[in-house]
Amino acid sequence: MSYLVLSRKYRPQNFDEVVGQEHVVRTLMSALRRGKVGHSYIFAGPRGVGKTSVARIFAKSLNCEKGIVENPCNECVTCKGITKGSAVDVIEIDGASNRGIDEIRDLRVAVAYTPSSARFKVYIIDEVHMLTKEAFNALLKTLEEPPSHVVFIFATTEPQKVPKTVLSRCQRFDFRMLTKEEIFTTLKTLVKLESVEADEDALRLVAGRAEGSIRDAEGMLDQLISYADGRISIDDVKEVFGFISDEVYEKLFEGISKRDEKSIIECIEGIAGKGYDLNEFVYGWLQFIRSLFLYNLDIPNPNAVESNDRLEQLARGVSSEFLTAVLNLSSEMERDMRTVPYSQVFLELNMLRMARIPDLIDINALVGKISVESSTNYEKPFIQNEVRESKEVVTPSEDVEDLWGRVRKSINEVNGKKFFKEFIKEAEPVSFNNNSLRLNVPRSHKEHLKEDIHLLKEASKEVLGFDINIEIVSRKEPIGETLKENPIIKKVKEIFNAEEYI
Ligand SMILES: [Zn+2]
Repeated sequence: MSYLVLSRKYRPQNFDEVVGQEHVVRTLMSALRRGKVGHSYIFAGPRGVGKTSVARIFAKSLNCEKGIVENPCNECVTCKGITKGSAVDVIEIDGASNRGIDEIRDLRVAVAYTPSSARFKVYIIDEVHMLTKEAFNALLKTLEEPPSHVVFIFATTEPQKVPKTVLSRCQRFDFRMLTKEEIFTTLKTLVKLESVEADEDALRLVAGRAEGSIRDAEGMLDQLISYADGRISIDDVKEVFGFISDEVYEKLFEGISKRDEKSIIECIEGIAGKGYDLNEFVYGWLQFIRSLFLYNLDIPNPNAVESNDRLEQLARGVSSEFLTAVLNLSSEMERDMRTVPYSQVFLELNMLRMARIPDLIDINALVGKISVESSTNYEKPFIQNEVRESKEVVTPSEDVEDLWGRVRKSINEVNGKKFFKEFIKEAEPVSFNNNSLRLNVPRSHKEHLKEDIHLLKEASKEVLGFDINIEIVSRKEPIGETLKENPIIKKVKEIFNAEEYI
């Protein structure tokens, strides 16, 4: 006996068996219960989520010999005929291969005839968006004045390609992608029905990779059943579909976070050398980085395949800024991967870019943060009230400009460092509160001033008679045009959504 694929063997035969799509099922059942049946429906949604299955169940409910019923009996001749695909009054048309005007003209002629035995003639047109413009126009004429015995159900993955004139004549139902949990539960039921042993983490991995399509998940399970010798394990899943194991990703991530470019290249060589599909590799990488990102933020990850101490450790070893940047570059890489001719080179370049992210962060510290610091910390030069209330009181009349003038004078008197004096010339006193003097300085001076900050402290003590803290903040400055065009700066802008001063 030939093997019947799971998606056909276990196709839902009534509305109760449909996975997900509760909103669609509920509305259709209610219409059937009240006998309020329309003449044209459009089922929109991603592939493999149950659109044609629901269309067939609906056709059975309309034509069941027990009457128009909420759920078909699946026992009468008509129901059985529709299930088998032999019912002459339920016509399934593939829109992709019957897309021309001639096919639709034939259809218009056939539509006029009454059903041969059923209550309704039901036309299920799959991938209806593939019809030509002329075909749609011909179809529209039928939709404008449909014979009372006809029901159209159009299924499409791309409703935006269906003309508005057609859409407006249809009741629309939007099917959604299934959740990973719904797919996982379905797979668990299937292996039980098939008396196949499978590890839960293996099924979870399949459910995650099916991307919301139950049909894809069932197809993957078909392959696993014919491959696995006994119990299906997570290694079987990785082996059959070329999913790369986490250890490979971990090693690569380590290379990136340690900026070990040699190890990164070796790692990618290894993957390419083993003949792995690089698109698949990048997809897995993105999921891996996302898991690390969630670990890093302490967000429980419902999609985690294996809960993993090692991942958690890796995630904690780096900053969330770094992971954000890696995630950002990775998602771009995943998006562009399919369009580049030399995918291995592209992959290597992107991974090396990630290894240089610490540089990006440093530049960000120099560039992006300047605007943040100066805009959030900038205060008008005055002494705040709380200073007056604090224990080591500066006299309330102490003016920050005046204070700074005296500190500078004191430096001039006691210290002969020429450059230092030059640097402090351009410093602007911003505020003095909580015993902290904030100075706004040109960016190029910041580090030099910090080196000799003790001189400033000494001079301040000289003036005030007690120790104070000195904060040095870079001044907002426009960045030159050439710098604007620098790819690293552009990247920083992109990653941190920085704009104001660049
Ligand atoms: Zn029936």
